[in-house]
Amino acid sequence: MPRWTKEVLIGFLPVLIIFLAFIGINVVPLLFAAILIGVLLVVANKRGGLAVGAAADRKRKKNSMSKLTFEEIGGQDNAKEELREALDFLNRYDEVQKFGIRPLKGILLTGPPGTGKTLMAKAASQYTDSVFVAAAGSEFVEMYVGVGAGRVRDLFRDARSRAAKENKKSAIIFIDEIDVIGGKREGGQQREYDQTLNQLLTEMDGIYSSESPRILIIAATNRKEMLDSALLRPGRFDRHIQVDLPDKKGRKHILQLHAKNKPITEALDMDKIAEESYGFSGAQLESVMNEAAIYMMREHKQEIEQRHISMAIDKVMMGEKTDRESTLEEKRRVAIHELGHAIMAEVVRPGSVSQVALSPRGQALGYVRHNPQEEQYLYTKSFLEEQIMIALGGAASEEIYYGGRSTGSSNDFEQALNIVQTMMKSGLTSLGIVNIEMVTTEELMRENNVILEALMSRTRDVLEQHRNVFDQSLDILLREETLSGNQFRCLFSESSLLPA
Ligand code: ATP
Repeated sequence: MPRWTKEVLIGFLPVLIIFLAFIGINVVPLLFAAILIGVLLVVANKRGGLAVGAAADRKRKKNSMSKLTFEEIGGQDNAKEELREALDFLNRYDEVQKFGIRPLKGILLTGPPGTGKTLMAKAASQYTDSVFVAAAGSEFVEMYVGVGAGRVRDLFRDARSRAAKENKKSAIIFIDEIDVIGGKREGGQQREYDQTLNQLLTEMDGIYSSESPRILIIAATNRKEMLDSALLRPGRFDRHIQVDLPDKKGRKHILQLHAKNKPITEALDMDKIAEESYGFSGAQLESVMNEAAIYMMREHKQEIEQRHISMAIDKVMMGEKTDRESTLEEKRRVAIHELGHAIMAEVVRPGSVSQVALSPRGQALGYVRHNPQEEQYLYTKSFLEEQIMIALGGAASEEIYYGGRSTGSSNDFEQALNIVQTMMKSGLTSLGIVNIEMVTTEELMRENNVILEALMSRTRDVLEQHRNVFDQSLDILLREETLSGNQFRCLFSESSLLPA
């Protein structure tokens, strides 16, 4: 039964009974019925609770058996090194004691989803020969005050008893999505969350280095800025390790790890795949290798070829091809929209277009595939403006050819707005160096509009100068549904020579 139904019932029934009694109706049968419903609800809740508890228990048991070493985690060299160093405090306990160093209680792993934080925690338990007990922040969330706190107590008790049973000197408790229970306490309605967090803090304060088993808590989040400062203060989660998206070398390593149990052709160029999967997380790279093996099987081949990997990258990036049939008019609009992106990309970054396609994938009706970029960590203002112009290219070309935009540009605008926000935060706009939170919504809106309108008009001007490319490419794209980067560049250079 949904929570809100329960709450409405609990609130509404007593009021109804009092009202009926007040107007002189015999409420005794109704009272019996209410008590019966109440008892049934409590029993159902206990059963549900037990079922959830049992499922979590099974998961913990499974987790405690998982053996995974740091060698099986690709890339993340710095994070692994930092974590190993921190874990040595546990491994070299006597030495640490001799120097009077305060024992480490909590390590916080932060980084985007799917970058291997859970893997790191598991490897940590293997490295320190500890029991591994895991839970996710959402498992502690309940409507009734006190249940979450009770679960935190159970988790610590479970870790201690399991370590004793398995004869281990230490236990690692891994809490994923710590932000769910460890968010900033701002007073108000969050009593249940507060109690859960308080219980966690109390348990952490109660960890003594002299006790056996020694407990280490590893927590993971991708929203560190949301965490309550009480959690981050020295003596609690005071060791922070950043687990970032892997760079090219890291991606290659992860791909190799996930290729180990798969039949791959010798000619497979891992460097190229690592280059093409720019911005992918470890989980996405695992998915690429998995999808490539599925494509291989579909084609009744014995080995994974480069082609299968390219198809898998497209699928992970943009979703599976769909059978949506669109009208010729819709196809023409999509082609014009995609060509707008492609022409802008080719103008500002020559040689960057790898393919323009009309086939629908995931939510998109068409797409432009770009050649792999160089790894880059700093962006100039002009680079970001060009990036916005590429995103606006689709809407601008629809305006030129149809006199108006369509709903097909919403993702492009979202991308453009995100870049504008990055520019604002980095002091690259006329707002100057500002803290975004101190600027009013009106000022932000005005600045957004000024930047986007100016770039939209520049984009339209550039596209107007390349109408010939549109005309030439449109026919091929509508006929063939794809246009390769080289084909597109040939048309581009031929058409650029013609008068517009
Ligand atoms: P979330 O924040 O969503 O919980 P996470 O950072 O904990 O994600 P994991 O659960 O550790 O990510 O990783 C998910 C899967 O992705 C792993 O089971 C593994 O297959 C793959 N993976 C992620 N990172 C790596 C890596 N560095 N090396 C090898 N495999 C990886």
